[in-house]
Amino acid sequence: MGTGPDMQRSFLADNLRNLLRNLRDEGLSAIPGRLAEIAGRKFARGFEEVAYRTPLGDTIGRGYRGHGIVVMFHEIHTDVDAELRTGCDPAQLERIILALRASKRDIVTIPEGLRRLADPASSPFAVLTFDDAYRDNLTNALPLLERLEAPLTLFVPTGMITRETYAWWLGLREWILKNDSIDVVPMGRRFSCADLASKLSTMRQLTSWIGYDQARADSLMPVFDAQAISIPALVDRYAMDEAELRRFASHPLVTIGAHTETHRILSGLSAPELAAEFRGNKSYLEAMFDRPVSFLAYPYGTPDSCGAREARLASEAGFEASFTTRHGHLFSEHLRHPHLLPRIDVGYAPQSAASLATRLSGLHRAMATHFGNPVATEV
Ligand SMILES: [Zn+2]
Repeated sequence: MGTGPDMQRSFLADNLRNLLRNLRDEGLSAIPGRLAEIAGRKFARGFEEVAYRTPLGDTIGRGYRGHGIVVMFHEIHTDVDAELRTGCDPAQLERIILALRASKRDIVTIPEGLRRLADPASSPFAVLTFDDAYRDNLTNALPLLERLEAPLTLFVPTGMITRETYAWWLGLREWILKNDSIDVVPMGRRFSCADLASKLSTMRQLTSWIGYDQARADSLMPVFDAQAISIPALVDRYAMDEAELRRFASHPLVTIGAHTETHRILSGLSAPELAAEFRGNKSYLEAMFDRPVSFLAYPYGTPDSCGAREARLASEAGFEASFTTRHGHLFSEHLRHPHLLPRIDVGYAPQSAASLATRLSGLHRAMATHFGNPVATEV
């Protein structure tokens, strides 16, 4: 695929067109669910735009603006459409760093951020984190971060480096990219995906069907085999190898963090399996770099996939602080909950100015929790 259609094209138009296209395969029963999904997304985007363009955002967001923010990225693509917009491009990464600095936040390391949380007189801060050890973090992100003198933490699953992680999301993307229609037998559905809009919609629907259910992700293994899609080959294509990781980690701006051995959904694992995921990954990285690995990010990081049990075992495994993907900013109260720290996903494309502003202002948590507690711990 080339550079793709106009990024500003309305999601609603895309989705309605795709809904009609898929009706042939899905039948009339697909209509209510898809319309609800479209309406929900459209409402949230509309609210963000109104909040961004009026004093409403600042007024509501103020109570949700914390002393610190931890932002999360994954892949940094050269061409986001060619990878079904599962990451962002370097221009967006730069825009976000500049926006953080424009909002009077220093970009700092995790230890410096934790120190500032304990000191209300310190300057507000932001921490940059990247998950999964994608090769493009080395080629596309690091030169930019070096130019902007912005420190970062890379959370590394052992299996991405050893090529043993079952990275179903890479298989799914490859399957959709290479075909005009796909038959998802375990789901009992067929998707038309001949153009970019329908490929994006198919990717979104399949990712949401898998949700946080490892069995559903595993049910795609025979499908990938039948399509001659090799997950280890995809991990090899997209993730750093050991030599590249060593090169990345040797940069003075880089801190290496843990991200489990296999990158499975943690809530489905037994306590001993979970302890082995944390300890094995920690000792693998510590042996490679001959220095302590003190910080952890839980794969997925949602309330469905990690909670109090994971926090306790992360603490017992010897981590100092652990990051979820709960919405929200960092407050001094988080020092009492260092293993369920919130983290904001900003590395997705396309991203409107309103959508970014909502996340950086704190309003995003207000919306996600229906104006609940600004301090994210369990939710
Ligand atoms: Zn991850």
